[in-house]
Amino acid sequence: MPLPLLFLIADTGGGHRAGATAVARRLEMDRPGEFDVHIVDPVGTASPTVLSRTADLYGPLIHRARWLWAVLYHATNSAAVVGLMQHSALRPLRGAIQELIASLRPAAVVSFHPLLNHLAADAVHSGAHPTVPVITVITDLVDVHAGWASRDVDAVVIPSPGGLDRCRRAGIPAERCHQLGLPVDSAFARPIPDDAERRGLRARLGLAEERFTVLVCSGADGSGGLDRRARAIAGSGLNVGLAVICGRNERARKRLRGLRDWSGRPVPVLGFVANMADWMRAADVVVTKAGPGTIVEALCSGLPLLLTWYIPGQESGNLEWLVDIGAGRYVPRPRELVDTITELAAPGSPGLATMRAAVAGAARPEATERIAALIADMACSAVARA
Ligand code: UDP
Repeated sequence: MPLPLLFLIADTGGGHRAGATAVARRLEMDRPGEFDVHIVDPVGTASPTVLSRTADLYGPLIHRARWLWAVLYHATNSAAVVGLMQHSALRPLRGAIQELIASLRPAAVVSFHPLLNHLAADAVHSGAHPTVPVITVITDLVDVHAGWASRDVDAVVIPSPGGLDRCRRAGIPAERCHQLGLPVDSAFARPIPDDAERRGLRARLGLAEERFTVLVCSGADGSGGLDRRARAIAGSGLNVGLAVICGRNERARKRLRGLRDWSGRPVPVLGFVANMADWMRAADVVVTKAGPGTIVEALCSGLPLLLTWYIPGQESGNLEWLVDIGAGRYVPRPRELVDTITELAAPGSPGLATMRAAVAGAARPEATERIAALIADMACSAVARA
């Protein structure tokens, strides 16, 4: 019988679900049939619905009132406030998690969301099977919110040295901290594509094979004015191929309907796609917000990043890190963006070569395999001890 595992996420943005799905797929690849992974969003199905409605506000808030999100992020970024939230607004989720544990009897509980770690540990430790291991997998990259740093879990998977520092300062013992990287789907964990593979993929995706290709995307919610940037590139007269992925941003997709590039060629404008790896591996640069999932996927795909936007709080550090290591440039204004693409698309561009080298040095395609192995080992050891 496969061992059940409970993976807790919330669909705020797309990174939490993407991380959990990547680890679940990796487990099935490496240890087929051994585990039965349940990925559950207890926030989306929360009762009272006020909690799920609050979570639904995440997308609109990020789109329309970034400053308010920044205020909320910083106001809640301390152990004291996180503790207060666990005992007030988030309290109903604890019961929901307890019910899930009682019905699934998981061999391990893994939280992929900053608001669920403490609740998961609390639900396990006060339930009928308190020795079930609880593991946190941090899905932010550089800035780690206080919500991630629960001392009550058995292991914390940390993406970066900055995250490790934060967890250690929060009092998590060194032996529970595992700096393994951020999970990335196995579709990205392949050797960086060469020109022949890029051209082949472009042909398959209906893009011009020989053209330097720019991919525009902006996380699962397509936030941050991606339609403005796509228009600027299409209307710039630059001889580049272009593809736009709007994610769940239907308004942007409608606004861009019928977009053509300088030569009159229609630009593919898509909604939420399931094959992001193909689009990234077909492109030469990606224009995006500084989302952690997109960043590690782009690094594994050998794709320099042109960053145009970020969510204050959890994404500010990502942007600084990428610019510091030379794998990304911050180009928020359309004019700067077009100038940078002009520079990078020039034949033999030294800027592009430098960025590609920095990207290759920062990619950690092995992260998911190591995270999956840690979870599998902890779950199996706990079952053997029980
Ligand atoms: N994504 C996807 N299809 C889309 C748009 C986005 O699969 O059409 C995925 C993307 O590949 C990444 C995640 O959604 O894995 C976005 O995560 P990120 O951390 O970049 O941003 P978030 O959406 O969490 O703000």
